[in-house]
Amino acid sequence: MAKRAKTDDLIERTRVPEDGRGFALAEIDPGAKTGLPDRAAAEVQTMADIARIDELQDVLYAQSKHALLIVLQGTDTSGKDGTIRKVFGPIDPLGLRITGFKAPTPQELAHDFLWRIHQAVPGKGEIGIFNRSHYEDVLVVRVHGLAPKEVIERRYHQINAFEQHLAENGVTLLKFLLHISKDEQKARLEARLADPTKQWKFNPGDLKERALWDDYQAAYQLALTRCSKPHAPWYVIPADRKWYRNALIARIIRHHLERLDLRYPPASGLDGIVIT
Ligand code: AMP
Ligand code: MG
Repeated sequence: MAKRAKTDDLIERTRVPEDGRGFALAEIDPGAKTGLPDRAAAEVQTMADIARIDELQDVLYAQSKHALLIVLQGTDTSGKDGTIRKVFGPIDPLGLRITGFKAPTPQELAHDFLWRIHQAVPGKGEIGIFNRSHYEDVLVVRVHGLAPKEVIERRYHQINAFEQHLAENGVTLLKFLLHISKDEQKARLEARLADPTKQWKFNPGDLKERALWDDYQAAYQLALTRCSKPHAPWYVIPADRKWYRNALIARIIRHHLERLDLRYPPASGLDGIVIT
C-alpha cells in the first residue's frame, strides 16, 4: 500500500466547513488554481491519482463492504459530464453506477423527493456517481418556486437525515459543486452553439437558467451551508479550468478511498484445491 497522507491542506481548504461556518461561495474564484499552479505537473498527478483510484476500486469491489457516492452539481456547462468522462473514464465500468437526474416524471413526483434518489444509491462494493441529485430539489425547485416554501425549507434537514442514514450504512458521500464563472459559461454556451457535435446539448431553456444566475448562486450558498457535514462534506471545485477541476476531484476521491479500510477478502476454503 502506498503511504497515505492523514491530512491534505488543499483538500481541507476546498471543503465547505461544517454547517458552512464562515463560508461564502461568492468569495471563491472559479478560475483559481490554488495549490496546483503548474498545469503539466497537475495533469501527471491526475493520471497517477486516477490509476490509484482504479486500483482501490478493484479492492472496494472485491471486499463489498463499503460504497462510495459522488454527487456532482453545477450549472449547465459546468463540466459534470466532462468530469465523469475524464476522471471515471479509466475506471472499470463494472464497478461504477452512474445516474443522471432530470426533471421528475409523474411517477417520481407522486413520491417523496428522495424516493428516486435512494433507488440509485450504490450498493456495497460500488461507486455511484450522481449527475445532479436530490440537491436539485432545493436548487432549481427553490429558484423556480416549484414547491411551497415551507416544503423546501424542510428538505435541508431531510437531506441531512438521509445522508447520515446512508453514512451509517456504509456509504461514503462526497459532494462536489463545479463552480464556474458567468463569463466562462457564456464562452462554453457559445462553443456549444458553434460546434455541430455539441449543438444537441444546447437547450434554449439553459438561457433562462442563466438569467437566474444570482438566484442560483444564493441557492447553492444555502444548500452548501446547511448540508456540509463531516459524514457528507461539500467541496467547491473551481471549474473554469478543466484540468484543475479534474486534478482536484481525483485527488479528493483518492484521499477518501485511501482512508477507507480497503483490503482484498482473505481466501477461504481454497486449501487443497487442485485444478485438474
Ligand atoms: P441536463 O443536466 O442538461 O440533462 O438537464 C437536466 C434538467 O433537469 C436540469 O434543467 C435540471 O434542473 C432538471 N432537474 C433535475 N432534477 C430536478 C428536479 N428535482 N426538479 C426539477 N427539475 C429537475
Ligand atoms: Mg443541460
